[in-house]
Amino acid sequence: MAAVCRGEGKRPCGICGPCRRILSDTHPDLHTLVPEKGKQTIGVNVLREVLETVAVKSFEDAAKAIIFPEAHRMTPAAQNCLLKTLEEPPQDTVFFLITEQPGALLATIVSRCRILRFLPLDDEACAKRLMALGLSEQDARRRARMAEGCVGQALEIGEERLKLLEQLTKDVFSVHRAGDVLSVVNVYKDDKERQKMIMDLLEAAVRDILLAQAGTGSPQNSGMAQEAVAYARAVPLAGGLKLSQQITKARMMLGSNVSFASAFESILLMISEEYAKWPW
Ligand SMILES: [Zn+2]
Repeated sequence: MAAVCRGEGKRPCGICGPCRRILSDTHPDLHTLVPEKGKQTIGVNVLREVLETVAVKSFEDAAKAIIFPEAHRMTPAAQNCLLKTLEEPPQDTVFFLITEQPGALLATIVSRCRILRFLPLDDEACAKRLMALGLSEQDARRRARMAEGCVGQALEIGEERLKLLEQLTKDVFSVHRAGDVLSVVNVYKDDKERQKMIMDLLEAAVRDILLAQAGTGSPQNSGMAQEAVAYARAVPLAGGLKLSQQITKARMMLGSNVSFASAFESILLMISEEYAKWPW
């Protein structure tokens, strides 16, 4: 059995034995280190176990790789334990420490790593990657927008979130008068589980609206309802900025135990007030 992939150039072929074992997470020389079930951190015990495994010869006679998808989850003790191995790494072993919080890693660890920065793609490039993975153009574009250029996150966005974005922006931006506010509040006020998602989606929607109002983006294809697109056209940037501030205020209200209904209502009232100022 060939232990090394014979894919063209440096790209893995995806179909040979080693490739298939890597894809199915059963390759004996590839270790992914995540916290144990029910835990938030990677402790010394988990780390030691893997380090002992890689200290022995590779199973497939090739390089070994240890991946930490969230390296910042290592406890300081675990990091100190890893440090010794990084100083004198076993032969043909590569460690990948991936993190969004490099500050949570010990300076002694960072100084022994080669640092590669991964920047988010722009929406267009992200959408293209998603289309190449088989998503429809419309789906790819709205996911690229919602995930701000991160392909992995874009793929993880659930159908529920996409549906809620459309329905929520339809309801929220249909509030043309103060008299329309209560009925929309009533639809969402008891949806305790999704209250955080509702605020997150509103914030993201307003970000897209601001870009459209400032003339640097199009709210089309963002997954928002036509009502939100109409708002972006009818209300100038100053109104969008006030709305954005109101959402920040509403989040603070929620943080200080104001009811979701009151916080949400304050946002809807702001929308109705802005609509009242402009012809639509
Ligand atoms: Zn292969």
